[in-house]
Amino acid sequence: MPELLPPEPFPEQASREQILRTRFAPSPTGYLHVGNALSAYYCRQWAKAHDAPLLLRIEDIDSHRCRAEFSTAIIEDLQWLGIAWHGDIRYQSQHLDTYRQALKKLRHMQVIYPCFCTRREIQQEIIHAALAPHDEDGIPPYPGTCRQLAEEGEKNKRQRNIDANTPFAWRLDVERALEITGPLNWREKNWNNKNTQTITVNTAMPDPVIGRKDIGISYHLAVVVDDAAQRISHVIRGEDLRPSTGLHRLLQALLNLPSPVYIHHPLLCDTSGERLAKRNHAPTLRKLRTNGISADTLHRALLPDNMQRPAPWIGLSDLAKIQE
Ligand SMILES: [Zn+2]
Repeated sequence: MPELLPPEPFPEQASREQILRTRFAPSPTGYLHVGNALSAYYCRQWAKAHDAPLLLRIEDIDSHRCRAEFSTAIIEDLQWLGIAWHGDIRYQSQHLDTYRQALKKLRHMQVIYPCFCTRREIQQEIIHAALAPHDEDGIPPYPGTCRQLAEEGEKNKRQRNIDANTPFAWRLDVERALEITGPLNWREKNWNNKNTQTITVNTAMPDPVIGRKDIGISYHLAVVVDDAAQRISHVIRGEDLRPSTGLHRLLQALLNLPSPVYIHHPLLCDTSGERLAKRNHAPTLRKLRTNGISADTLHRALLPDNMQRPAPWIGLSDLAKIQE
């Protein structure tokens, strides 16, 4: 076990004063759609109910998929929805050094390791090892191939790969990380009944990618750094992100960052109960606008019973009828 550096204050870590604040954090990979609008409404509702600021963060670390024009469009669409935010917008692309510094800290702690596997190799290894092929805790399965590369006998293999400039991702060694942190919990509040639960981090999650091969960092790393930097007390986000919360809690503990309360809101579904997302043609807010739908009509259609469960999405033509 390497000697650990003493915990040091994270450069952007604010004081832990108990100020209530939340954030809305879209990614500019396309135009905002009705599902994003629902999430923004939930964030605003919580902020209003607690007289707390709602902050805006643009999650644009992925330079391959994010575009500046979509960032501009997000701002226009939020204004159309009537969602106001507090203070300056935080653009992740302006804080890449901060995320790299966090990654460096994890390297010094020896809880991450380079993974040279291609997607295809991982797939083959999963079949070979008869592992479950589905995601666990929001993390794709990984057989741990590269974890032991620096152990005795394999030392040269890792170094050889690095010397040959073989591209690699950084993976978190979950077992080693948990040895350092000990057992962890996070606080989860139910949107509807307001009960707070303490949830234990799953110790059996697969080793996740913390620094991607292509961009060197990852969503998981950036999000925990940003929530601390923006002093977010309550993270309000869709239920689809609940499985990643254990990983986020683990990263917070390793990086000595405070852990917010998590509230995962219900997602928008169509009338057959299927989740509405960009890929199954959730209409964009722009499309609604050009069809003469008002933001008020959209709000009434999404949340008719005052912010409890969202109503099933009725589709654009039925929405137009309500508008008339
Ligand atoms: Zn690997």
